[in-house]
Amino acid sequence: MSASCILIFGGSFDPVHDGHLGLARYFSTLLQADALRLIPAGQPWQKPQLATAASHRIAMLRLAFANWPSPVQIDEQEVLREQPSYTIDTLRALRKELGPVVSLALMMGADQLQNLHTWREWQQLFDYANLCVAARPGFQTEHDGLAPEVSREISRRSASAAQIRTTPCGLIFVAPNLALDISATQIRQSLQHSSRPGLPVPEAVLDYIQQHHLYQS
Ligand code: ATP
Repeated sequence: MSASCILIFGGSFDPVHDGHLGLARYFSTLLQADALRLIPAGQPWQKPQLATAASHRIAMLRLAFANWPSPVQIDEQEVLREQPSYTIDTLRALRKELGPVVSLALMMGADQLQNLHTWREWQQLFDYANLCVAARPGFQTEHDGLAPEVSREISRRSASAAQIRTTPCGLIFVAPNLALDISATQIRQSLQHSSRPGLPVPEAVLDYIQQHHLYQS
């Protein structure tokens, strides 16, 4: 890929939902990103065992992002890794693959920002990528709700979308105005009680979930 700004989006995607799509759409538009790299988690180190096999989560991602307006790549590196996956390893691999010039914009919701200081080598993440964080109902993006060391990094590295687009790594953009009250946990719970109508999940993904009897035990 010879793009100049690539959005990086990691997650369990168990299942992918409209919150994920909203977040990706928001930053894609804001940064005018040239491409989107989806990175489904293998065995995330901070979450309990995932409900669904990687093959299903990848198939659902493919359906959800089928009509995405820019090139989308599903990157299986974390799924293929045998040990628990750490974002720092993924970013090192991406930087090696894509070279030093491209802007890498790692997207996340505010729930992840609150935990950032517990991630392995979290301060080194900025050597490889920029961080793009969006608000999420119930989670703080304000400085007094964050670990002081994370708050300091935000003050030091805060930048505009235009700067992120043209800078390879080291900057942070926090978007406080996204408010999509959607989580995979809520969706898995609703599916266990087989309530399909109104679920914030793309139709094609819901069809896939039904065909494969996912989330029903
Ligand atoms: P779970 O409920 O199982 O913990 P989740 O809904 O948080 O899952 P993940 O796949 O773990 O979904 O999330 C991947 C990334 O997307 C994370 O950075 C998360 O913060 C972000 N994200 C998920 N849902 C939203 C949302 N509604 N608004 C903003 N960011 C979101």
